Amino acid sequence: IVALKDVRKSFGSVQVLHGVSFFVEKGEVVALIGASGSGKSTALRCIDRLEVIDSGEIEVCGHRVDDPKLDLRRLRQDVGIVFQSYNLFPHLTIAENIMLAPRSVKKMSKAEARAVAEGVLAKVGLAEKADQYPEQLSGGQQQRAAIARSLAMEPKVMLFDEVTSALDPKLTGEVLRVIESLAAGGMTMIMVTHEMNFARRIADQVVFMHQGRIHEHGPAGILDRPTTPELRDFVAEEL
Ligand code: ATP
Ligand code: MG
Repeated sequence: IVALKDVRKSFGSVQVLHGVSFFVEKGEVVALIGASGSGKSTALRCIDRLEVIDSGEIEVCGHRVDDPKLDLRRLRQDVGIVFQSYNLFPHLTIAENIMLAPRSVKKMSKAEARAVAEGVLAKVGLAEKADQYPEQLSGGQQQRAAIARSLAMEPKVMLFDEVTSALDPKLTGEVLRVIESLAAGGMTMIMVTHEMNFARRIADQVVFMHQGRIHEHGPAGILDRPTTPELRDFVAEEL
């Protein structure tokens, strides 16, 4: 459902991705890990065409992301992306934030979009927060609302970029539980994370990036039996 083949990307004279290849099947959970600056966010952003690659191929849900004629709107309907910062509009309620895309992109009526919003809020455990404003929610609740906003478009793939990095441990747990329930429901996802225990528990594949390349790649067990000193050091530091 997601395939990257020899993806290269530079910013100016700095090459950030040096030929990255991996495949994700439907329902798989991929943990993308690596030190700061190793290219994790760039790789994720390329998958959603927030960055345009220099060479290589990316296919997502049948969309050729590297094709200049790509229909961005259809790609973005199939791919949900959630960042560390929640980017909820402060002047809109949680439900209104969630209803925006279904209204504008899917042309839903207000009532339809409201029903969708209530459904996804229930999924992330925020049913009672629909009519509150973002500032009235904790960081973890806002992050769950941001996840709900993505789910409202019924994506086939979810991309998460360090969604818990700004949260304290208790709120982190709440957000990870939501992600875990999505995984259990069969959602295909690629997540950049520093939560090694979480990766051990839910990842089907672990992709370890180092200096813009995939340095180790395998099942979650590679975290316990790293074969390169770089992954061994990385795991030791994340403990
Ligand atoms: P972190 O764990 O800190 O989030 P990362 O693995 O996500 O790191 P990236 O954000 O992908 O790393 O960045 C990889 C490299 O690309 C870094 O050296 C960064 O400075 C550079 N980079 C990323 N985005 C841009 C940009 N828009 N313009 C120029 N350089 C960029
Ligand atoms: Mg990053």
